[in-house]
Amino acid sequence: MNLKELYQEIILEHGKNPRNIGKTENFNKDAKGHNPLCGDSVHVYLKLDNKNKVEDVSFEGSGCAISMASASIMTDLVKGKEENEVREIINDFLGMIKINPNLKSKNLNDDEKTKLMCLSGVKQYPMRVKCATLSWHTLISAIDNKNEEINTEKFD
Ligand code: ZN
Repeated sequence: MNLKELYQEIILEHGKNPRNIGKTENFNKDAKGHNPLCGDSVHVYLKLDNKNKVEDVSFEGSGCAISMASASIMTDLVKGKEENEVREIINDFLGMIKINPNLKSKNLNDDEKTKLMCLSGVKQYPMRVKCATLSWHTLISAIDNKNEEINTEKFD
């Protein structure tokens, strides 16, 4: 199996069996996001503890395999990390999905980086980039307590 096949396998698997689906009990932050180009929508729920660490995170939503896989992988990766680490990971991911060849984050181990790199295949398809980044923009909105629904059309 080559790298491209492995990546597709992981996306399909997460798309079929998304992790962390539902509404986090006692969440203290949340945000909604919408990608009108593809029809993807997500609602991200976050519970930060008193040290600003992600105690729990989940999402509800519907959409294409890429958007669901991206939300699934994202929620898996940020659980247990501190807010500033999560922000750094989000920036690193958004940079990679648009221009950077690789991830640079020190807050991700190699296994976690491999999971995120699965989504790097969308780079060649600008419409698909929005599917992959939807849940990430929505997570930032939740962390920042912005009370507005994310619309991917507002981002490059
Ligand atoms: Zn989509």
